[in-house]
Amino acid sequence: MRAIKILDTHTINKIAAGEVVERPCSVVKELVENSIDAKASSITVEIKNGGIDLIRVTDNGVGIPKDQVEVAFLRHATSKITSAEDLYEVISLGFRGEALASIAAVSNVELLTKEEQELTGKRIEISGGKMSAAEEVACPNGTTFIMRHLFFNVPARKAFLSSSSSEGAKISDYMYKLALAHPEVSFKYIQNGKTIFTTSGDHELKHAILNIYGKEYARNTLECYYKSDTIECMGLIGKPVLNRGNRNYEHFFINGRYIKSQLLQGAVEDAYKTLVMVGKFPFSVLHLYLDPSLVDVNVHPTKLQVRFKNPDTIYKAVYEGVSHALREAYLVPQVATEP
Ligand code: ADP
Ligand code: MG
Repeated sequence: MRAIKILDTHTINKIAAGEVVERPCSVVKELVENSIDAKASSITVEIKNGGIDLIRVTDNGVGIPKDQVEVAFLRHATSKITSAEDLYEVISLGFRGEALASIAAVSNVELLTKEEQELTGKRIEISGGKMSAAEEVACPNGTTFIMRHLFFNVPARKAFLSSSSSEGAKISDYMYKLALAHPEVSFKYIQNGKTIFTTSGDHELKHAILNIYGKEYARNTLECYYKSDTIECMGLIGKPVLNRGNRNYEHFFINGRYIKSQLLQGAVEDAYKTLVMVGKFPFSVLHLYLDPSLVDVNVHPTKLQVRFKNPDTIYKAVYEGVSHALREAYLVPQVATEP
């Protein structure tokens, strides 16, 4: 019989990476969320070959203290929560402290980071979980994270990836949603050397929609707003002319986090009921703000799914907000203002 033994850290990280790093897009997501948590106002994401060969995320956030750069790559190393109780009130996007360790376990990683008050920053290289270089360097404020050769040391995982164009499409899709989630951040997204979009970061959701989806979308939206004691719902919804053939254009963000929710899709679609044809779906970009304790984001590491404490209240906020906006635009008779 084989003896039972505890796995070494390197093996544990590699296995755990399977949970966090499913594909290139998961790496982009984790890195960008770290940049946002670091209060960056400008974030550049560059990918090559669907993110399999290269992912570079550059931010102007607070940076990582020089003496903590190595620690940041340890599993369960996080500056965002200190106890399980904090989990009920998470407002940062990250909190598991698994991303950097996981990414570094299955790729070649280079990190450059500098805090504003420091004169120099730090550069570190990690390959397949093993640190190969760490030095003080001159670099701009903020953090640049470069990942190369995803899954170079896990061929089975690499083989499981889709084509680079399909992996790239997933990242683009994510980047669009991200820019809609954060109109206060200026994003630049570059794919194989070509700039796909930039946003201004001027806080205007409508401008972000313009930069991402174009004029037709920006022009055909309606303001949506609802507020109760426990929840605030705001954003833009499409006029019925913008209806699409799938649900990919229904965007929901809870406290700044993009989520998927059948409950919210149902609320929007119910409100549009008579205004869209069967098989067509509305355009919506809705931000919901509620007490973090009313929503459980701790359901899965990729955190796309959430569980609501009071689903009825959430449904109502979205349904009422959307219905009201549509009523204002379409059912209230136009009053002539000119003689
Ligand atoms: P988590 O985000 O769950 O805390 P990560 O493994 O993603 O875990 O990151 C570990 C820690 O490294 C973070 O808690 C944060 O302190 C630091 N960190 C990571 N990326 C950045 C960044 N871009 N800017 C500043 N600090 C960062
Ligand atoms: Mg993180």
